[in-house]
Amino acid sequence: MATNKLIIIGGGAAGLMAAVTAYEKKLPALLLERRHRPGLKLLLCGNNRCNISHDASAAKMLQDYGTPVGEFLKAAITAFPPDRLREWFARMGLSTIVKRDRIYPKTENSDDVLHCFLDIMREEQIPYVLNCPVKCVAKENDIFTITTENGLFFQSEKVLIATGGFSYPKTGSVGDGQRIAAELNHSIIDPLPGLAGVDCEDRLLAFQSETDIPDVAVTVLAAGRPVARTRGNILCTGSILRGSAIFDATRAIARQKLTEFSIQLDFCPALSTPPENLSRLPLPPALVSRLAKKPSWVKSYNLQILGIRPLKEAIVSVGGVSLEEINPETMESKILPGLYFAGEVMDIDGPTGGYNLHAAFATARLAIDSMTCVKKAKTMPQRPASKPPRPQSPRERYGDPRKLSRRW
Ligand SMILES: Cc1cc2nc3c(=O)[nH]c(=O)nc-3n(C[C@H](O)[C@H](O)[C@H](O)COP(=O)(O)OP(=O)(O)OC[C@H]3O[C@@H](n4cnc5c(N)ncnc54)[C@H](O)[C@@H]3O)c2cc1C
Repeated sequence: MATNKLIIIGGGAAGLMAAVTAYEKKLPALLLERRHRPGLKLLLCGNNRCNISHDASAAKMLQDYGTPVGEFLKAAITAFPPDRLREWFARMGLSTIVKRDRIYPKTENSDDVLHCFLDIMREEQIPYVLNCPVKCVAKENDIFTITTENGLFFQSEKVLIATGGFSYPKTGSVGDGQRIAAELNHSIIDPLPGLAGVDCEDRLLAFQSETDIPDVAVTVLAAGRPVARTRGNILCTGSILRGSAIFDATRAIARQKLTEFSIQLDFCPALSTPPENLSRLPLPPALVSRLAKKPSWVKSYNLQILGIRPLKEAIVSVGGVSLEEINPETMESKILPGLYFAGEVMDIDGPTGGYNLHAAFATARLAIDSMTCVKKAKTMPQRPASKPPRPQSPRERYGDPRKLSRRW
């Protein structure tokens, strides 16, 4: 059996970036993907608009990830900050735009991000195998043997696990990478739903149709003390609340492993006191008339919540392969040399706004950079000189990508 240089397990955001980066670095790699299509979760991102990163400095991003994720991601994000990510995608033919600090493909269509990767993989003949769920990984005499659920065997000098977290399991991220890592003696932090909705029994926020409250501050309290504050929108759908303010609050709850907590809302965070005329606030009229009955609720309302929505519905899982056992400068296992990790399979997560895809892309690049002994890319890697520059966008090359995606 031929021994591969590198096998990448998982063809999501991290695995696809790893495969293309390995090609750039002239490291032959084979990607194995569980599902019949790669990048299924990538397609869902940002309501199919794909918020690929956040328009901020590396330092600000690291601060926003918080402890311990920010410390762990320092080398990865410093080497591949948002402006470099935008440059990289532009060179690959995908222009990007910024909307309210969030970076999207210019077409605001997640198909284009996936096709950006798949076009390169097809054009450069980067090999990948679909319908190929990896069952286990073993290492003997410096060589990894990778066994798949459908009875195939592969050998490789290095392995990168990029199998994602536990949420949206239909996209293929079912926790396999964490199980494989545990079998290879890694510790796994139990997953909890992060960036999840909450169930509530709250008449104040019960509306007949889906209603968006654009700017709310959420304070999470534990034992009566504030432990996290988030700000953003709240989307009320029946008895379920979602939106960035709620999502970021549930991530904080999961990170701090809070079992007992309460949530307080401030419906006019921009003002220290509510205006006399509440209808001046950017609030739905039905909410304004309910708040008018008790104006003190405008600045401080205790939300009656029943619980957090389940992990399978969360945007990210908080938990995964313990960061203590991964070298943050290289993404290599401290336990088993030659084994690397990228993306959400690790105990990394970020707030809403492109932080999670950015972390997947940046950790994948760092893993490949370190395998090819380039610690930090000082200059942007160039495509081989013989290749003509890529046209500006997949849409330019092939027409409407939505039509293209139907063929795939
Ligand atoms: C609805 C939704 C919207 C989101 N929107 C955004 C957004 O706009 N911006 C943002 O930053 N983040 C967003 N996220 C989060 C983001 O999608 C994830 O953090 C990111 O995709 C993680 O990338 P990953 O490569 O680590 O994992 P994934 O993208 O989940 O990819 C893992 C891949 O590994 C494969 N795999 C799993 N097990 C095996 C196995 N045994 N063998 C072979 N292959 C395997 C899976 O099939 C999958 O293709 C969103 C998430 C969801 C669910």
